[in-house]
Amino acid sequence: MLSGHRSHQIGLDADIWLRPGRALNLTTEDRETIGSPSVVTANRLDINDHWTPAHVEILKVAASDPAVARIFVNAAIKRRLCETREPGDTDWLRKVRPWWGHDSHFHVRLRCPEGSGCVEQQQPPEGDGCDETLAWWFTDEALNPPPPAPGDVPPELTLADLPGACRAVLDSE
Ligand SMILES: [Zn+2]
Repeated sequence: MLSGHRSHQIGLDADIWLRPGRALNLTTEDRETIGSPSVVTANRLDINDHWTPAHVEILKVAASDPAVARIFVNAAIKRRLCETREPGDTDWLRKVRPWWGHDSHFHVRLRCPEGSGCVEQQQPPEGDGCDETLAWWFTDEALNPPPPAPGDVPPELTLADLPGACRAVLDSE
């Protein structure tokens, strides 16, 4: 995915669709226009039928990479990862942080390369993040403005929609 904000442009952030990669022979046109369905229900409280075990695996692999500082996903995705976590999953789950949007892609933030002069963000808080700080994301305060009405499924995102969906991550903790 391409995107417009600063940390993407210096190469420290990457957005990755949650669409399973069933075809590797995409045309240039496909690459520019392909989108991904949301894996979160319209009320933002749970994941939907687009979620697969492969999503857990890709997030685990990405978050386990020492070069990765954080991964941002929708809170419903984080909660599902918490519900299905296994002993020893603390270290990678710690890096997977809830954020608004991010229901059809996940957002990878890399550590500063050595000698780059960029300033490293603080580490995420200790623990796997499957605690009351996660519960907050499902309160009215966090879900406000209210989610779409039941049955009002969000449209698929395309590249043109992304900068807005990701911009706030830059200011996140
Ligand atoms: Zn993003």
